[in-house]
Amino acid sequence: MRGFRCFAAAVFLASSASLVAANADDPTTAPNAENGLNPIDADTLAHIRDTAMTSGWAYQQLSDLADRIGPRLAGSRGAEAAVAQVAEALRAIGANVTLQPCKATHWVRGLETGELVAYPGQPQGITQHLSLTALGASAATPAQGLVAPVLLVHDFSELAAQRQQVKGSIVVFDEHFSQLLAERGHAGSAYAAAAEYRTRGPSVAAEMGALAVLVRSVGGADYRLPHTGITEWRPGQVPIPAAALTTEDTDLIARLSTQGPVRIKLVLTPQSLPDVDSHNVIADIPGRELPEQVVIVSGHLDSWDLGTGAMDDGMGLTAAMGVAQVLQTLHLHARRTIRVIAWMDEENGSGGSKAYYESVKYQLPTQTAAIESDFGLGRPLGISADILPAQSDWLNPVFAALAPLDITAFDRRKGELGADIGPLAGVPRFAPVLDTRHYFDYHHTAADTLDKVDPDNLRREVALLAVLSFTLAEMPEAFARVPADVNTH
Ligand SMILES: [Zn+2]
Repeated sequence: MRGFRCFAAAVFLASSASLVAANADDPTTAPNAENGLNPIDADTLAHIRDTAMTSGWAYQQLSDLADRIGPRLAGSRGAEAAVAQVAEALRAIGANVTLQPCKATHWVRGLETGELVAYPGQPQGITQHLSLTALGASAATPAQGLVAPVLLVHDFSELAAQRQQVKGSIVVFDEHFSQLLAERGHAGSAYAAAAEYRTRGPSVAAEMGALAVLVRSVGGADYRLPHTGITEWRPGQVPIPAAALTTEDTDLIARLSTQGPVRIKLVLTPQSLPDVDSHNVIADIPGRELPEQVVIVSGHLDSWDLGTGAMDDGMGLTAAMGVAQVLQTLHLHARRTIRVIAWMDEENGSGGSKAYYESVKYQLPTQTAAIESDFGLGRPLGISADILPAQSDWLNPVFAALAPLDITAFDRRKGELGADIGPLAGVPRFAPVLDTRHYFDYHHTAADTLDKVDPDNLRREVALLAVLSFTLAEMPEAFARVPADVNTH
């Protein structure tokens, strides 16, 4: 994070361009030879912003996704219903919609129960219920469940130090999500640190002979809700049962474990089925001069199955869809094509992202910029960008247009700005900076529902994405490719 940007230096240029498609010879859109900056008409960007801020269309799409379909786990009927609904909504506003075939993971949740069946001080006849939920790609226990002793560890080094006890046990990873970091604006770092135990912990413990793994939920609130998410196995590895425990129940096991041996009965009956055929939804607003050049603005269509996916990633997806609606309302065609993509299977296998990459990998230079919005429900605060340092000022017109919304933070970073646009090596990538202090309260839980989303935050995000995408698609010269080995920090 580079901190807050100074707007005094923002470059404003003549603002006489019409809101209808600008003429290629229009001097207001010609490059400024003197300072090398890309002039973008300030009035046009203001109209885009204001149209987004007065439109309820994106929130209507979000309501339709969350309330009419609900969960959209890859491979499920909900995911397929979402493909049809999103495609229809984008067709209805006149975008050029195509369905791009892709594969989608097909993992189906089953029964999931946990019980403390033996522990120090246990009164006769008493067992204790554990609140847990299977992780994506988890294997099943035997139908009648399995009973095994608990080995509770805090990190991988503690696991390695106790490797003799791993075989035949249920390993519990007690790695805490740092809400303190999240509240200070570093939720991404807090998530990355804790989620490593969800993604890699079961695989590492399985290699040492664990029967099953429970992972402390990766989240910042204490409402005794388990947070699901994907876990990953090495190629060829035989998966074991793996689930997320609530933070409260992890603490309970931790307290009892200090007093003596603890045994758990675990029943998980998920199924991993063959991948299914599915689709990305792609909706183009064709460019008026360089239609073959593309600016992607995107979110993912699938969601976890416990909640209704309103914030992850209903909010990001419908904000991206809102870009098309705003531009169609204003009859605006930028120089390049603006391509809204609703990605399939982001949460489980990135089937949609892989299919898109395969379709453009021999023509990557046509992909001039890619935006992904997948960071929840918070108020938009700024923009993250993986661009060359020398070109940071090219975003000045964007920040000038968004300043009235207090969208002013600029975060130039190297690295992932979205899982789906990740494979587009060298393409300048962007993401909105959102207030994430409370994103991980609900992330991947049953509480990811429509009521969590403030419609005003969604309008602001549409405004951000619309102003940014239009600018990226309109600038006379696109941002330079970003070499993978350039350190932009
Ligand atoms: Zn997501």
